[in-house]
Amino acid sequence: MRVLITGGTGFIGSHLAQAFLERGDSVLVIDTASTAKVLDFRNNPAYAGRFQYVKGSVLDYTLLDGMMRKADLCYHLAAVVGVEHYVDDPFGVLDVNINGTQNVLRAAFHNDTKVVFSSTSEIYGKSTKVPFKEYEERVLGPTSIDRWCYSTSKAAGEHFAFAYAKFGLPVVILRYFNVYGPKLDKIDRGRVLTIFMGQLLRGEPLTIVNEGRQTRAFTYVDDAIRATMACGLVEQAVGGIFNIGTDRETTILELAKVMLKEFGKNPEDPKNIVFKKQEEVYGKSYQDIDRRVPDVTRMKTILNVQPQISLEEGVHKTCEWFKRTENFREPYAAAALEKK
Ligand code: UDP
Repeated sequence: MRVLITGGTGFIGSHLAQAFLERGDSVLVIDTASTAKVLDFRNNPAYAGRFQYVKGSVLDYTLLDGMMRKADLCYHLAAVVGVEHYVDDPFGVLDVNINGTQNVLRAAFHNDTKVVFSSTSEIYGKSTKVPFKEYEERVLGPTSIDRWCYSTSKAAGEHFAFAYAKFGLPVVILRYFNVYGPKLDKIDRGRVLTIFMGQLLRGEPLTIVNEGRQTRAFTYVDDAIRATMACGLVEQAVGGIFNIGTDRETTILELAKVMLKEFGKNPEDPKNIVFKKQEEVYGKSYQDIDRRVPDVTRMKTILNVQPQISLEEGVHKTCEWFKRTENFREPYAAAALEKK
């Protein structure tokens, strides 16, 4: 099978590319940046001739159309994602996530290629009806709060996907819940886990927003990838929405403690944690979500995927990877030197 992955050099995209390469498929990747995450695929003799990377944007319809022609299945993962972007660059978020998605769907329709669209758990917004079910109400804040532009952009993408489904395009929508693992962003950036990772590598205390009682369902990347592949491969998935996550609900404080233990630190020692007010960390244009937990019944029953990796095991694997990876040790070493 020939699989096209937009955003295929990113965290989830690179894991997905590898999983399809391992299965024996060919993988085409379109992304604005080639990263270290996929460099070794080109040099791997086992993948010889089956991996192709093209530098480009999903805003380029002609490029997309040409690549779609060569694909049997398309995963649309390219997006502007990350809290810092929602707050600093709402234009980029809306432009790429809405117009780019529209281009992907149009090219897929033109070439009759099935599309799996990666949406997000942000879709549910601040709904308090946990666990979130795929077909329930969304609750979002006002448009003056930039944070909601990401959720809105992905919802527009989902609507476009359903609109194309009405024209006959096979589409599947998946919504990720806090996926983490090796190759997650650089330390200090983006997500709570990588922020904590940078702090732990430098021997600093962990910064917890408010009291750390807010919860997430941290999903290990291998579990997410099995479910993502099934979205493209299981026939009954077509036309549906799937939460991709785990049913274990974890507070941010609990995550901090698991990570502190991984680094041999006492999680009960108050010196290891600093509590910060939300505004101090994110400014005014942000609203945190108290509980974000998926109902994964559809993932388990229709996709037949059960989450297998516990938080402790996943955090262990992730920390081990960050500790030994040169790329990620470098900024830590530079920062440590600066401090001296
Ligand atoms: N968070 C925290 N300390 C940090 C960064 C984030 O306590 O240094 C919290 C944040 O307030 C949120 C949760 O961790 O409640 C998850 O944040 P993340 O940025 O990973 O993404 P989200 O799940 O909110 O999309």
